[in-house]
Amino acid sequence: MNLVLMGLPGAGKGTQAERIVEKYDIPHISTGDMFRAAMKEETELGLQAKSFIDKGELVPDEVTIGIVRERLGKNDCQKGFLLDGFPRTVAQAEALEAILADLNKQIDYVINIQVDKDILMERLTGRRICKQCGATYHLVFNPPAEEGKCDRCGGELYQRADDNAETVSNRLEVNLKQTQPLLDFYSDKGYLKNINGQQDIDQVFVDVDQLLGGLNA
Ligand SMILES: [Zn+2]
Repeated sequence: MNLVLMGLPGAGKGTQAERIVEKYDIPHISTGDMFRAAMKEETELGLQAKSFIDKGELVPDEVTIGIVRERLGKNDCQKGFLLDGFPRTVAQAEALEAILADLNKQIDYVINIQVDKDILMERLTGRRICKQCGATYHLVFNPPAEEGKCDRCGGELYQRADDNAETVSNRLEVNLKQTQPLLDFYSDKGYLKNINGQQDIDQVFVDVDQLLGGLNA
């Protein structure tokens, strides 16, 4: 079962990733983990990646793609894998196709957890943090008993700058713009499966599970 997982920030990708890898016993391959592992093992590509990251620069595609190639060639990927955070661009998606062809593999599904921007805004801007004890709340999902006040210590709640509407909206727009060509690419290939992420988390997984169950049959 060879999967790519996609979804905008706040879509609930992390939760679904955890459940997929647990149920189907395939490795969860996120870009960050892959980089960290390659750097720790001090592979040639890992050291190259580190030299860019240490300088605060973006890791070039050829290095990233090399690291993905190494990772997907490992034994634990024989049963499959769940890629998360890669590919990010059509060029990377094309490179992935070539890597998988070399390994005699093919993507089964690209699972896209779909949530409207309004709902993502609500999810992503609702966080409030206690100034005194650091407890976190959410205006919709985990509101404090008294508005603006921490249940635990009575401290004042505030919103981080990263969570304000303008910043979140910009972040989502950038993501949407980057993601659309990739969704089109995978849609043309027939891999894309959209899952309604606006439902309860458990129901989202029921839908994912139903899709993936078909692969085992
Ligand atoms: Zn508090």
